[in-house]
Amino acid sequence: MELTRRGFLKLSGAGIGTAALVSMGFNISAYAAGMELRTSTATETTTVCPYCSVGCSAIVSVIDGKPVAIEGLPDSPVNRGSLCSKGQAILQVSTSDRRLNKVRVREPNSEEWKEISWEKALDEIAELIKETRDANFKIKDDKGITVNRCDAIANLGGAALDNEELHMITKFARALGLVYIEHQARI
Ligand code: SF4
Repeated sequence: MELTRRGFLKLSGAGIGTAALVSMGFNISAYAAGMELRTSTATETTTVCPYCSVGCSAIVSVIDGKPVAIEGLPDSPVNRGSLCSKGQAILQVSTSDRRLNKVRVREPNSEEWKEISWEKALDEIAELIKETRDANFKIKDDKGITVNRCDAIANLGGAALDNEELHMITKFARALGLVYIEHQARI
């Protein structure tokens, strides 16, 4: 039987945990017979923690299309199965009931946040980007050197964006001529 690093850690972890519980007087066989892991029917897939540039890998357990657990990926040469406290909480990126999933806007001089539709928000963002970019786009700088840039808009990526999303966002930003492009994970 071929034993992967992950399989080995699972087995040795189970062994160590069982030995520790036996030494404390627990009846392990009774516990083991009645216990079912909440991930026992899950499909596992791998991902990369979005929070910082260390780039730890994780295993996501999914049941019925919903993530139910996250753990470090033992096969990753970066984190070797460990995750820091932020990484252990990445499940909340998709499951937290405190996560906003509607657009809110605070209009000028208002103290209230109000909900608006995605269509309205995207239209307004697109109009403002176009207006600002057209008003500030420079073909040449003060020395007559061709620069083709817009330094009136900055682009800041967020930690919950994945590599593919950031690739597309950066391409889009560069196509607009933006030069101030940064990401939270690098700051
Ligand atoms: S936030 Fe923690 S778990 Fe996530 S990549 Fe950084 S060090 Fe790794």
